[in-house]
Amino acid sequence: AVEIQQLTKTFGKLRALNGVDLTIQPGEMVALIGASGSGKSTLIRHVAGLLRSDAGERGGQVRVLGRTMQSGGHLSPEARRLRAEIGVVFQQFNLVHRLPLLINVVTGVLGRIPTWRGCLGLFTREEKLLAMRALKRVGMDDFATQRAGNLSGGQQQRGAIARCLVQQARIVLADEPIASLDPASARKVMQMLADINRQDGITVVVSLHQVDYAIRFCNRAIAMRDGEIVYDGATDRLTPDFLKDLYGTSREELI
Ligand code: ATP
Ligand code: MG
Repeated sequence: AVEIQQLTKTFGKLRALNGVDLTIQPGEMVALIGASGSGKSTLIRHVAGLLRSDAGERGGQVRVLGRTMQSGGHLSPEARRLRAEIGVVFQQFNLVHRLPLLINVVTGVLGRIPTWRGCLGLFTREEKLLAMRALKRVGMDDFATQRAGNLSGGQQQRGAIARCLVQQARIVLADEPIASLDPASARKVMQMLADINRQDGITVVVSLHQVDYAIRFCNRAIAMRDGEIVYDGATDRLTPDFLKDLYGTSREELI
């Protein structure tokens, strides 16, 4: 679903990604772990087509669903259409706080096909029913009419996942979706991601600080350090000793 070759991104003097090679198969659920500043968000933003790599050959390329998203610092003409297949869930600012949850979720259809009707906030009955069904899937249908800003962080994240379902995303990129949540809410959000991965076959890439959630919910982990992948393999090898070798700390939370 995602093929990355020699992806390199430099901010000024800082090499945020240094020749990253990575392949993610359709239907996988992969954890992206690493300390703050290791390049997780930068990598995710390149896959989403929200950030362009260094220019020229050394920038590398990103392919998504068999098509080129970007190459050598240029977004491909397909990037727009590819973005329609990619749902994103971020740590915060996922939903428009002033608007009811249902409206936030139904806008997922715009991620797919932006129509003038939808842009004006005019959605069909079918689209609203689709959004209600998605809310039910994540256990949030009772909150459909609540302003998103009044919901807890975990509830908002579940809403963001529902929006990915309405979008009919084939890949969901979740950048630290549980970073500011309490353990119970974090578990629920991870469970929802695992659920859409298993039941809908959606490829999920989720960046996490907490290794224990990676171990619990993902089979494969990609560990980053200073813009490079330092481990790519089964999560059950991520023992405290192994993490100590990788990061010089055996703490469960990488900071
Ligand atoms: P965190 O866990 O804190 O979210 P991260 O692994 O997501 O960290 P990135 O946000 O990808 O790390 O950042 C990688 C490096 O690139 C960091 O050193 C960061 O300061 C730098 N960086 C990221 N975005 C920019 C930017 N827009 N301008 C300059 N430097 C940036
Ligand atoms: Mg980040």
